[in-house]
Amino acid sequence: MTDEIRVRIAPSPSGNLHIGTARTALFNYLYAKKTGGKFILRIEDTDAERTKQEYIDNIFDSLKALGLNWDEGPDVGGNYGPYTQSERFDIYPKYAKMLLDNGYAYECWCTNEELEREKEEAVKNHKAYVYSRKCLNITPELREQYIKEGRKPSIRFKVDHRELTFNDMVKGELKFDTSLIGDFVIMKSNGTPTYNFAVVIDDMLMKISHIIRGEDHISNTPKQILIYEALGAKVPEFGHLGMILAPDRSKLSKRHGATAVSDFVKEGYLTDALINFVALLGWSPSDGHEIKTVDEIAQDFRINEISSSNSIFEYDKLNWMNGQYIKKMDIKKLTDMIIPFLSDYDLSELSREKLEKMVEITREPLTTLKEIKDDVPYFFGESVPLDEVKELLTTELSINVLNRFNELAQKWNFEDEEEIHNDLADLRTEFKEKFGYKPKETMWAIRAAVTGRTRGADMAGILVIIGKDKTLKRTNEALHIKAGV
Ligand code: GLU
Repeated sequence: MTDEIRVRIAPSPSGNLHIGTARTALFNYLYAKKTGGKFILRIEDTDAERTKQEYIDNIFDSLKALGLNWDEGPDVGGNYGPYTQSERFDIYPKYAKMLLDNGYAYECWCTNEELEREKEEAVKNHKAYVYSRKCLNITPELREQYIKEGRKPSIRFKVDHRELTFNDMVKGELKFDTSLIGDFVIMKSNGTPTYNFAVVIDDMLMKISHIIRGEDHISNTPKQILIYEALGAKVPEFGHLGMILAPDRSKLSKRHGATAVSDFVKEGYLTDALINFVALLGWSPSDGHEIKTVDEIAQDFRINEISSSNSIFEYDKLNWMNGQYIKKMDIKKLTDMIIPFLSDYDLSELSREKLEKMVEITREPLTTLKEIKDDVPYFFGESVPLDEVKELLTTELSINVLNRFNELAQKWNFEDEEEIHNDLADLRTEFKEKFGYKPKETMWAIRAAVTGRTRGADMAGILVIIGKDKTLKRTNEALHIKAGV
């Protein structure tokens, strides 16, 4: 019987969920989906100073919004909890003691000052720093003396010097010379575990079978493997994903744009588009079709086909993809999502039906939901500013067109979009035949009068939404504008 596949995402809540962590979560999730395994969420909050409840909430909310639901985790529980490290502090000392008793670890009584001096010495000699092992074999008397001095020991793992090899699921065979690692601390002198120790104990006890994470953790992996071996535990499989870089190939950071999932959402990115986009950072669909749901991606997902190199986060491509999702999204859902971006407007001016229609006819050019704000001011208020179109409106052509348009608008009931649409088409033909006006010039005049702009959504649609009163009022105002005033 093969063991169950169990993967995890283990974010540290020292910030909002980063898009890179979202990608790592996704690849773990996909691997679990593809193999019928379990996806586990563990909160790594051993660093109390940097941990904030709001970040924990943000991690939960962001993962859920992306559809990356976990089978076991702090809120849903599971057989291997608790799933929050700060609730597991009583577990780690037991395993540290086991390593001490078996000679795999030792107490280190060095003070920070002493360690700093060692480090400075190494820098001076142009050597990479490794701990001197000063405390490896201290006498019982010296130990007594340290205790009397009030020193508290940390616990260091004793690193055997050898070549350590493992087969990375993404990067293939990786080799390390452990003599370069140095005996590292597993329990701090304040009794809390270090990341490398807590992560191994938790992954071991939670029966994690595959650890898929960013390659920034690659240097931690040999340390972790050594701990598994010392504990006589089965070493999980490891897979390290290439990093996500900004278009300028530097580390993706806030100066490039949003980096937290919740910031992307605030900017008006849809979580479906975001998750689809991050899947493509390292993975490519076998059929070449990039727009896919997470379920579709899971079917096509093979971990060994993940690119081992870094991926570039192309904001332009994300914008394009987000636009694709906006275009095909259910209009009711899209309207709900767009409403928060329209707080500058009095939405009570429009019925829900008209609001949905407004979204329908303005969504085409959008790449983010936020952009809609600048595209819709003319749907609100009685009048529109005409400054930008004043010259256009004071031509003989415009005055002719608007007079005729005014007559038509008087008779329309503004419920029948088709009638408006057809009448506008007839009006264009009529003016072309009579005066040689280009159809687009005719429409510019009407659009300028009604919206104050020369470009925008479908004209008949706009008229139906703003209705008769506003149309007549705005047309009148346009007809009374004086050239040059
Ligand atoms: N807590 C670690 C981090 O947020 C992840 C640990 C791991 O995946 O092993 O980077």
